[in-house]
Amino acid sequence: MGARAFPPMLPAMLLAGIGAATLLAFLLAGLAGAGGHVARVSLPAPVDAAALPDIRGDESLPLVVIDPGHGGHDPGASGSGFEEKNVVLGLARAVRDELEREGGVRVALTRNDDSYLLHAERYGIARRLGARLFLSIHADSAGEEDSVGGASIYTLSNRASSGAAARFAARENAADRLNGIDLNAQSDTVTGILYDLAQRRTSSQSDEVAALIRREGEGAIAFHPQDRRYAALKVLRAPDVPSVLFESGFITNAEDARRLTSPEGRERFARAIARAIRIYLAREGAAE
Ligand SMILES: [Zn+2]
Repeated sequence: MGARAFPPMLPAMLLAGIGAATLLAFLLAGLAGAGGHVARVSLPAPVDAAALPDIRGDESLPLVVIDPGHGGHDPGASGSGFEEKNVVLGLARAVRDELEREGGVRVALTRNDDSYLLHAERYGIARRLGARLFLSIHADSAGEEDSVGGASIYTLSNRASSGAAARFAARENAADRLNGIDLNAQSDTVTGILYDLAQRRTSSQSDEVAALIRREGEGAIAFHPQDRRYAALKVLRAPDVPSVLFESGFITNAEDARRLTSPEGRERFARAIARAIRIYLAREGAAE
């Protein structure tokens, strides 16, 4: 998506402390005026540069979008002879297969090969398809510290829950930069304002998914002592699709690497995650 021209009076309006609703209306008028296509009433249109993935199954079934992190020129973390982009693609496919095996849900992957997508394109796919849930799967590296291991579950927050969470977010968000140029031109300030206004329900749903993954992963997934974290991760910024990033473990840790790359380990992982997703969708279905 190209850079959007926002109305020049915006800083003055912010300084004058105008009401949030007025500001939102003003921003949306600016987006429409700049040639943006507004697909939903209160939010800017999703980035639509990426091709939409194929989806199997009945359209009345809820859709889950699973996002294997990184890809293409961006390998993500590396360790134990593995690259994150390949490890997480294997995990994402395993979760998809497990969900499709039991049926009752449709699944799309943001990428099913070694291609690269911007963060906004990843969650943009979930928004364009009207997904009920967005799950981004990653793995981490602890450099030389090969004793560090275990999975953690992230949801979006403007304040990081720890120094480690902030560093993880900085590394992950940097994927949108190529040779120092930010490939995703959307203003962080505007995204932040829209997020605050629109994201309250989405945020509590994301927390619920995270709690279910933690609960259903007990005994099946090795978690980090600090397994629930919050950070300003760009890929979790869909304001209207509940979004969770699962950091599946450290590929610099031999045990984690084995667990995440062996067929048995992947299957155990996929069963736990798929169970959590099913329980979440059943609860949401019952609440509507
Ligand atoms: Zn990653």
